[in-house]
Amino acid sequence: MTCGASPRDHHPVRIRRQRLSETLFIARPLPRFEVRIRPPNLSEWQRGNTGIRGVMQFDSNRVGPHAVLVSLMHGNEFAGAIALDRIIRQGVNPRSGTVSFVFANLDAFARFDPDAPTASRFIDEDMNRVWNSDRLNGTQSSLELNRARELLPVLQSADILLDLHSMLWDSEPLLIAPGTRRSSALAASLAGSSGMPRLIVTDLGHLGGSRLIEQSRFIRAGGPARSVLLEAGQHWQADTIATSLHVAQRLLDNAEAMHLDAMDVGVIHPEQAIVTDNVMARSAAFTFAHPFRGGDIVQRAGTVIARDGDDEICTPYDGCLLVMPNHRARRGQLAVRLARLIGEDPPPRQAPG
Ligand SMILES: [Zn+2]
Repeated sequence: MTCGASPRDHHPVRIRRQRLSETLFIARPLPRFEVRIRPPNLSEWQRGNTGIRGVMQFDSNRVGPHAVLVSLMHGNEFAGAIALDRIIRQGVNPRSGTVSFVFANLDAFARFDPDAPTASRFIDEDMNRVWNSDRLNGTQSSLELNRARELLPVLQSADILLDLHSMLWDSEPLLIAPGTRRSSALAASLAGSSGMPRLIVTDLGHLGGSRLIEQSRFIRAGGPARSVLLEAGQHWQADTIATSLHVAQRLLDNAEAMHLDAMDVGVIHPEQAIVTDNVMARSAAFTFAHPFRGGDIVQRAGTVIARDGDDEICTPYDGCLLVMPNHRARRGQLAVRLARLIGEDPPPRQAPG
């Protein structure tokens, strides 16, 4: 179904459809999510070996970049922590430079309950919204803000940062890179090949605050450090651990080449997309027209992809990529990001319906 006949390339995202009677919208509860992986035992890394809780550091004693791999930014996203735990247990011997492994929100992780698996994302506030300098240097206090300040010494000496996340709703794995050339190059060297995400997204950030990948060290013009965030798949699926492991291991094996921009990505061309619209839910009844999966592409501009109270949400251009649709967005929450693919090859994937 399409909504209206506006010019294809500038079709409005939100169209108001006036109804004759007042409609009562009731928020739908979350479905039950299966937890198919077990939380890792991180007790050996709790104290850390640097003086900072939950930070394990390994030095080659040779000049080289400082690679920092972060997990558990969100307490219930432990697939990345399982990957880092396995890597540490296998033995870490960087060829050059230093590698640090960070288990970020250990307090929220400790509260994980498989019967309420979404409840331990954070304790006081979302830890991946606190990383702008005003908040870090301000006088406010929260468990996550205090923990972010505790981790700053290791994060602010990073040359390469990989922040390992996962997603509540089923979705293609993807990498999110801030809009600097050096971070795009890092993302490109972690994408496209077997077992790795094939999609790189540059997005509009979050209204609620800065993510770690947007910390000033990583986005400053002409700055030295690069960052990327991995959304490795659904939180509690075995494939999500495998993708986290692949990406983390590739970074560890090639950190120096990535730091020096000497990485040969060969013939691999990942899909790249730029987010053009953050669609926020304005009602409790935001509902997608199909059970869209993150990474789906809607071919025609003007296709109704969701209803939000009286409004229809439409694709603004042909070949619109849906990034991380939230099938239970509450009022004021981000329901989906709309992204335009860039590059030469036409996308092979299509959304249902
Ligand atoms: Zn996350």
